[in-house]
Amino acid sequence: MALIPQSISELIERHGPHLHDVPPGGWASRGDPDRLVKTHCCFCGVQCGIQLKVKDNQVTGFEPWEDFPVNRGMLCPKGVKRYLQASHPDRLLSPLVRTSDGFREASWTDAIDQVVRNIQKIQEKHGKNAFAVLSGASLTNEKAYLMGKFARVALGTRHIDYNGRLCMVAAGTASRMAFGIDRAANPWSDIPLAKCLILAGTNVGECFPILTDYIWKARDNGARIIVIDPRMTPIARTADLFIPIRPGRDSALMNGLLHVCLERGWVDTRFIEQHTRGLETVQRAVASYTPARVAEICGIPARAVIQAAEWWATTETGMLLHARGIEHHSKGTENCLSCINLVLATGKIGKPGCGYSTITGQGNGQGGREHGQRCNQLPGARDIENPADRQIVAARWKVSESELPRSGMASTEMMEAIHRGEIRGLLSICFNPLVSLPDAEHTRSALDKLEFFGVIDFFLSETARHADVVLAGSLHEEDEGTVTSAEGRVVRIQRAVEPPGKARSDWEIICELARRFAPFDQFPYACVEDIFRELCHVSSGAVCDYSGMTYHKIESNYGLFWPCPSLNHPGTPRLYEGGQFYHPDGRARFNAVEYRPPVEDTDAEFPVILTTGRVVSQFLSGTQTRRIGPLVQQYPEPLLELHPGLAKERGIIDGDQVLVWSRRGTVTLRCQVVKTIRPDTVFIPYHWADEKSANRLTNNTLDPLSKIPEFKVCAVQIARA
Ligand code: SF4
Repeated sequence: MALIPQSISELIERHGPHLHDVPPGGWASRGDPDRLVKTHCCFCGVQCGIQLKVKDNQVTGFEPWEDFPVNRGMLCPKGVKRYLQASHPDRLLSPLVRTSDGFREASWTDAIDQVVRNIQKIQEKHGKNAFAVLSGASLTNEKAYLMGKFARVALGTRHIDYNGRLCMVAAGTASRMAFGIDRAANPWSDIPLAKCLILAGTNVGECFPILTDYIWKARDNGARIIVIDPRMTPIARTADLFIPIRPGRDSALMNGLLHVCLERGWVDTRFIEQHTRGLETVQRAVASYTPARVAEICGIPARAVIQAAEWWATTETGMLLHARGIEHHSKGTENCLSCINLVLATGKIGKPGCGYSTITGQGNGQGGREHGQRCNQLPGARDIENPADRQIVAARWKVSESELPRSGMASTEMMEAIHRGEIRGLLSICFNPLVSLPDAEHTRSALDKLEFFGVIDFFLSETARHADVVLAGSLHEEDEGTVTSAEGRVVRIQRAVEPPGKARSDWEIICELARRFAPFDQFPYACVEDIFRELCHVSSGAVCDYSGMTYHKIESNYGLFWPCPSLNHPGTPRLYEGGQFYHPDGRARFNAVEYRPPVEDTDAEFPVILTTGRVVSQFLSGTQTRRIGPLVQQYPEPLLELHPGLAKERGIIDGDQVLVWSRRGTVTLRCQVVKTIRPDTVFIPYHWADEKSANRLTNNTLDPLSKIPEFKVCAVQIARA
């Protein structure tokens, strides 16, 4: 199968001019750097430390940052190659406005005027809420905070939400319900202390490669590793127990594990009595989830259920980690709650080597959901419908409580609202919904219906091509601020270079827009640190309290874990120590979960399950990584993975082009026949657009609690093309 091109020129021929970013003389030809800048990777939630080499206001390479304790100099392929995006010819260097002949370059005055005029026109004609804002979880905490304030105070719209809605909101919702707080329970340094690890729905070896090192350290220390996944991912190949679950059945399995623990007395009665509420209802709910029934639902052996329960419950320490495989479901919150029930019943939380965590996919997946860019939330992760929270934030923002908009629509609901004519205009920053939302054709037709669409971005993403105005913003290394990693560590992002050409820092663009709608003293920032100081002040007293942090303190401690409520507070790496949870009575909550099948299960017409995910060399909607030559070379196109049994049944051989269709659309992809997937399931990575987009097939059914879509399971049919 000749899928990997043999040379850069072949790659360019196959994939177009975006690979011309190889500098004359090759990748390592740019000479000694002027300086090294200690910062962090722009991709996943592990937030590895990295030193960027800078020469002549260009990022020319990297050096390991071995002192930074999370990754100690190690980086995955994406981190190693990230520096190549900055010099890509697609980098937007100036604002663009749409004309009848396509985009033309515009001055900042023209472009900003057009955005302002169109927002005003739509809001005057249709009301404040007819204009919506889409934000991103790759933004720094400062920008996330600014976007929320811009939407609510400057524009007065209730509709602002972010692309973290497609990532880990189900876990956040479940954590708040169970623990009263939405943050990982432990620092990563607890992983090697665990004697049992359950890794559920997380292809950690490809999506968070550096985290895999912590898991291997645990294994070296004697830990048993249980992996639950429909695919035998790289981490599953070294597991002690691999449970190849049928997609969409996770809560049944977790209920089954808890059933076995309760039946055999493998629970921590003292912990349950002293630190939790609600076990009785959960006990009743899981009574019918016998290993035999769970085996039938999940398509796995019953003995695997018993074995996993025994190892988890009878081992002194244990951590349960999950990612999108658990969360991307129309019952994503219930799936997470069923995991938490197991953790609570066995008392494996709040101690070294014991805990529960989601591994956030986006760089600031954690911070992105704390500072007020979510549709139902104010800064400090405060509840926008809670009168006391509203009063506090309104007072600190110097507006009246009644002026603060109420809860708005989730980003996953906005496309429907555009189709209904309720939302007429949109401003989006670093969000590529055309690739990342389910049912891509539905998204495309929604974007085309908008009366005005403005975008702030650094590349012309597939979504930005539909914009009326594109404001050329900043890459990660062109801006500064803070990011909160998946373990809850707030780290410092340093500006390495100035934005090129006429591009500007995102925060300056947002401030300029905000000041056209609100008095200057509501957006008075002279620098990014001013925004951080305000963010910390507004978060003071909230669960998510940053008020004891400063840039200097963050830098000198290699990051700080929130809550950090005063300047002499050291931060809180491990939550729930001493069994103290964040509900008013200090107790965690069990939540009963009844298994529900996927909204779209297989039938005679669509007999195959489709699940989607990531590959190691690409990141989310691919806006950046599809422009980094060596990463494209590593995995040039989306491949459909299918089992040899299914391939044989359909007369398909490895490397064939295969037609895949669902109730929403069709794609044709080259296939890879692998024994590492269930015979009833196929897999497509979702980083590509248009005819290669996995999301032409996926289902936009939402989890009613978190509004996350059901990316991980829908029904399809396949045939040799
Ligand atoms: Fe970047 Fe994540 Fe890879 Fe670390 S593991 S280098 S943060 S993509």
